[in-house]
Amino acid sequence: METNSVLVPARRLAGKALLALAFLFSMYEVSPLKAQSCGSTGLAVQVLGSGGPELQDKRASTSYLIWDHGTARVLIDAGGGSALRFGESGAHMSQVDVVLFSHFHIDHSGDFPSLVFSSWFEDRKRPLPVYGPSGNDFMPSTTEFVRDLFSGPHGAWRYLSELVEPGAQGSYTLEPYDVVASSKPVLVFRNSDMVVYAVRVIHGGFPALAWRVEMGGRRIVFSGDTNGEGDGLTQLALNADLFVAHNAVPEGATGVERRLHMPPSVIGMTAANAHVKQLILSHRMLRTLGRENETQTEIKLHFSGPIAFANDLDCFPVR
Ligand SMILES: [Zn+2]
Repeated sequence: METNSVLVPARRLAGKALLALAFLFSMYEVSPLKAQSCGSTGLAVQVLGSGGPELQDKRASTSYLIWDHGTARVLIDAGGGSALRFGESGAHMSQVDVVLFSHFHIDHSGDFPSLVFSSWFEDRKRPLPVYGPSGNDFMPSTTEFVRDLFSGPHGAWRYLSELVEPGAQGSYTLEPYDVVASSKPVLVFRNSDMVVYAVRVIHGGFPALAWRVEMGGRRIVFSGDTNGEGDGLTQLALNADLFVAHNAVPEGATGVERRLHMPPSVIGMTAANAHVKQLILSHRMLRTLGRENETQTEIKLHFSGPIAFANDLDCFPVR
């Protein structure tokens, strides 16, 4: 009974139960979940933004939260629109242990200043570490990105320079780090009950990382944007309990689209080779929306585990 199931997150079930059940009928097994706040009783990934850069998809751009027993512990990316979803999720910036950026395209980083300014009104005292890639001619490094936003004398929002100036009083500090990544996963961050690894992935010419967060004996992996070249992502995703991959292009994509993103077949092979337990498809774009059956069919040629297409605010328990 466990085979061929489709994951249906709590929020969708609450709002669209009849429609979803009618649509899925006997083909798939639905996992009913009680309506609850995301991750209130365990570990869960909440999708804050399930879209790409296009606003017409009516989705926030990429962002994910890892909830741990009611606390929002890890924020991965902060694309446009995701700050509003962050508020809607009930999370507070004072709860977050660490921010992880996959890369600095706007659809992954544009709402970071909004989240930071919101945090200004919370009682955060401890530093907030921010990890992301190093830079090149197309992109700032993570330290440059944070300084370009908040440092004097030229930062865009230098009125918040207290956040990045050592010894400043009255504010917590943002602590940005450039990850020296390689084609093999490297340990990036750890605290009392969390370990975080990154691997370099290929996203055209833009420095980019995939992330793995290990907590409570579970592995959660985020591909970020990548064309899937090399086997670093497969190594990172090995035995992941939840694997979030980006469904930005359809099968058969060529040219720039393919240099930047994985088609469904590559997502399926990666998930299969890494033996992930469940696959979530996000970063949905106009060119993949409406083609879910085709995408799922292509992935299932390689990967036989459960697959779900993400929508904003969907909550996926990690068991
Ligand atoms: Zn993107």
